[in-house]
Amino acid sequence: MKTAIVCGAGGFIGGHLVNRLKEEGYWVRGVDLKAHEFGNDQADDFVIGDLRDPRVCDALFDRKINEVYQLAADMGGAGYIFTGEHDAVVMHNSATINLNMVEASRIHGVDKIFYSSSACMYPEYNQTDPDNPKCSEDSAYPAMPDSEYGWEKLFSERLYLSYHRNYGMEVRVARFHNIFGPLGTWTGGREKAPAALCRKVAESENGGTIEIWGDGKQTRSFLYIDECLEGVRRLMESDFTGPVNIGSEEMVTINQLVDIIAGVAGKTIHKKHIEGPQGVRGRNSDNALIHRELGWKPTEPLKDGLARTFAWIQEQVKAAKTVA
Ligand code: NAD
Repeated sequence: MKTAIVCGAGGFIGGHLVNRLKEEGYWVRGVDLKAHEFGNDQADDFVIGDLRDPRVCDALFDRKINEVYQLAADMGGAGYIFTGEHDAVVMHNSATINLNMVEASRIHGVDKIFYSSSACMYPEYNQTDPDNPKCSEDSAYPAMPDSEYGWEKLFSERLYLSYHRNYGMEVRVARFHNIFGPLGTWTGGREKAPAALCRKVAESENGGTIEIWGDGKQTRSFLYIDECLEGVRRLMESDFTGPVNIGSEEMVTINQLVDIIAGVAGKTIHKKHIEGPQGVRGRNSDNALIHRELGWKPTEPLKDGLARTFAWIQEQVKAAKTVA
């Protein structure tokens, strides 16, 4: 039986990844600062621990571990990443986790390690035109991410690739583009745009008005969690190191995203545009490389994933109201 450690298993993508690996027959150890908020975790063993502590990292390897999936990071949506208030902790915490985990994985001889980078590492100057953002993998340099979160991702990509070059470690690096789905943070300040907008629409009456940060003309693409995990597993099984985009090419404006969610909810929703952190003006995944290297790319329409996500967030909103 193959063994894997999932770092960040108490988080959104990590929780889903644990279950995916279990379905594939792995023995899985999850590790996180906290248990999964929504109980989405079927790990064989779950360690509550702080990966900034190298002793915690070392203790994870009490048996032969075939694969490490390093998803732990100090992160959140635009309200957490782009205000500048959390820059020092984001950089310090995430870089320390990565330094510790790649070294522990080397010392203990893991067969392969996966690192989740982000589209936030792409240079801001290629993402100023909402209709034509450029996010091909080879456009990363000269580097100019628009956030310290993005700079840390770039540093850590280079860290993993250095271990690959100098120690021959089998490393896989993916750049995720806005992953969404059920069983993720939907309130509290760290939630990302799809979850926040699903919540606002769920909380609104038919014909109501919701607040949108900025003019809503900024563009993004959003990838449903199941396709993200399919990409991760295909990358791990391939001989390709990356970095490679894992994202959708179905680019929409934030206003269109709201309209799709409103359609799924069966509500008429008006938009009030207010000041708020927005990030780059345009961003879309470029899937030429993943298609070439893995013979696969995500294809599910955005609307389908949003329908499933909205249904789950609507349940959460109703349950929260009942408790209140
Ligand atoms: P998440 O915040 O839900 O999960 C990250 C987990 O890491 C959290 O549960 C957190 O408690 C844990 N963590 C933080 N510091 C830790 C520490 N010191 N020790 C142990 N655990 C710690 O985020 P997510 O959306 O599941 O993202 C997973 C990874 O994918 C992250 O590295 C993120 O940067 C990357 N990513 C995500 C997206 C996205 O759209 N969700 C996009 C690009 C990249």
